[in-house]
Formats: sequence, C-alpha cells, structure tokens
Amino acid sequence: MERIQKVIAQAGIASRRKAEQLIQEGKVTVNGKVVKELGMKVGPNDQIEVSGVPVEKEEPVYYLLYKPRGVISAVSDDKGRKTVVDLFPFVEKRIYPVGRLDYDTSGLLLLTNDGDFANALMHPKYEIEKTYVAKVKGIPSRELMRQLERGVMLEDGKTAPAKAKMISMDRRKQTSIIELTIHEGRNRQVRRMFEAIGMPVIKLKREAYGFLTLHGVNTGDFRELTPHEVKQLR
Ligand code: URA
Repeated sequence: MERIQKVIAQAGIASRRKAEQLIQEGKVTVNGKVVKELGMKVGPNDQIEVSGVPVEKEEPVYYLLYKPRGVISAVSDDKGRKTVVDLFPFVEKRIYPVGRLDYDTSGLLLLTNDGDFANALMHPKYEIEKTYVAKVKGIPSRELMRQLERGVMLEDGKTAPAKAKMISMDRRKQTSIIELTIHEGRNRQVRRMFEAIGMPVIKLKREAYGFLTLHGVNTGDFRELTPHEVKQLR
C-alpha cells in the first residue's frame, strides 16, 4: 500500500506537492469516490482518477540533457518559447526537468517522469554539487575569489561555502572564466553571486551535476542515465 500522492507522483502526472494540491481541490477519486485526505493509502487494485483520467503507472525514465541557451526549463511556456521537453520529440512520457537552468544558461539538466526522484534531488538536504563555468566581466582579485568561496550576501541570505577556481583571464578584454561549484540551488544563484561581487555574468554553463558530466553529449542532445547512475543519485 502506498500513499495516494506518491502514486500520483510516480505516475508522472504531477510532483508530490502538486498531487497534494489536486487532492485538496477534490480532483482525485479512488474507486469512484472523491478523496480529500492526503494520507490515504491505496493498493494495486484501487482505481485512481485525476480529473476523470485514470492513473496508470508509467515506466520511470531518466535523461541527461545538454540544454542549449534560449530554451526554457519548463514543460510548457505561455509565451510560446521552446521548452526543454520540446527537445525530446519522440518521448511520449510526461517528463519534466529536475530543477531548472535559466533561459540563457546552457548545460547539464536532468529530466524524468519520476516525481519522487526529482523531489529528492531538489531537496536541500541532498546538497548535490553543481559545477558551473561562468564567463564574467572583470578580473577578480584573490580576495573576491575567497569571498565567493566563503559566501556572499544575497537578498535571500548568505550563500553556503562554495569552490571557485580561475580557469583563464583576458586582460585586454577584461573578462575571466571561472569555475564555481555550489551545493545550493537558489534561483539565479550563480548570476547573483557574481553580481554581488561586481562581476556580472556574460555566459553561464552547468558542467556537472554531482558525478554526472556532459561528457559525450552534444548541445541539444541527451542520453539516458544508466540504472547504476540512477541508483547512485538516489
Ligand atoms: N545559477 C544561475 O544563476 N543560473 C542558472 O541557470 C543556474 C544557476
């Protein structure tokens, strides 16, 4: 027996939180009866419907995408922009991104239809290391690099310790390429951290997510995670 919101999330219909909302809104029925109780347990023989559509368990899938710039990390966009899901034209399952990268950020993004997996990875307590390479305006002093590592004050509080490494600098153009590894995943965090030290980001790419890298994947392409990789991430 499993909690009803978990079953809905595993079916790829919604995240667990969204599933709870659907239940509270009275959109979920079990064996024909509306259920508003979040903790209800259901078994394999229970017929669950969300807004009248039967819930069928989808085979979970896990993809690693090399997101190009100019694509939105969402399932749909009200402004009609291209979304990361549009990059998977032959995948019929209801996949969605695990977290997000900004429209102008490129790099490694996971997509899945496994709501529990996605929620677990996005939970701050997992603290998955994410490595970004940023081209920024200016050449930071050692002290500014140390500041990035110790934490900078943002509107939503000081950032946790990070790793910052100078990759290269162009003195003539006054730009630098810096690798920054963070554990948190606040909105536009990397851009805001560089902004806070007075070095706005010109270009940003996520190179690694935990032990996963973009190795062997071209921009706009994806690959499936191996069962071993999925297990390691859990
Ligand atoms: N930090 C940012 O500023 N942007 C991203 O897309 C990811 C992390």
